[in-house]
Amino acid sequence: MKTWIPDGRFLPYFTWKQVEALDKDKSLVIIPTAAIEQHGHHLPLATDTLLNNYILGHALRKLPKDLPVYAVAPVCYGKSNEHIGFPGTLSLGRNTFMAVLHDLAESLHAGGFKKIVFFNSHGGNHSIIDVMARDLRAEFGLRVFCLFGGGGASDLGEQEARYGFHAGEVETSLLLAATPELVHTDRYTVNYIAKVGDPGVLKPEFAYATYAWLTRDIAPSGVMGDPNPSTAEKGLVWCDEMSTRVAAALTEMHAYENLLKL
Ligand SMILES: [Zn+2]
Repeated sequence: MKTWIPDGRFLPYFTWKQVEALDKDKSLVIIPTAAIEQHGHHLPLATDTLLNNYILGHALRKLPKDLPVYAVAPVCYGKSNEHIGFPGTLSLGRNTFMAVLHDLAESLHAGGFKKIVFFNSHGGNHSIIDVMARDLRAEFGLRVFCLFGGGGASDLGEQEARYGFHAGEVETSLLLAATPELVHTDRYTVNYIAKVGDPGVLKPEFAYATYAWLTRDIAPSGVMGDPNPSTAEKGLVWCDEMSTRVAAALTEMHAYENLLKL
């Protein structure tokens, strides 16, 4: 898989002696979490994994050179059962995904690391990562942080900002910037899971009353959003904004100390 992570921050490129020599009290280690799942007719299955790496790679380049922040290889497979039925989607069950996060954190803890951050780019993983973050804090005394995506895209229409969360304008623009050779610009489709202004309190997302949805119930092509207005120029701007926010968050996480220590 293509990587934008700078070599000097990518732990898999280190020897174990080099990792042993790192200052564990100061180091922050990122575990990227993503997915291999359908992204409509026009984007590759690896979209979430590619975008995760693209934004994180740019964020890491924005950090001061001497800030000890490192990434491990991404967990490419996530909990993607909302997309089951679309060939090529590869999903881990909830228990498997939790076990993977647990065991990777345990390995980092055994290696002496004290601070880890999950950088997640797939919505279906969020709730599990939240649970695991607290459990890993309790079990190993690790300082665990969560970063969910890059914090949104500027100048996006309200409908797309709310309900364009899968293979829509944002993801398509980012991939047009990152890997244009993988975007089929002649195969765009449009589906919205709901509309801004719909009556009633029951919503698919972002509300106090929600329902569990499967993609095949509501989006025949697999797209949730409108990719038509996507451009590489927007992707470059959004990558810059998102990676700046991610870099700022990583800097705060690195500096974070709690008053009470386990
Ligand atoms: Zn995605």
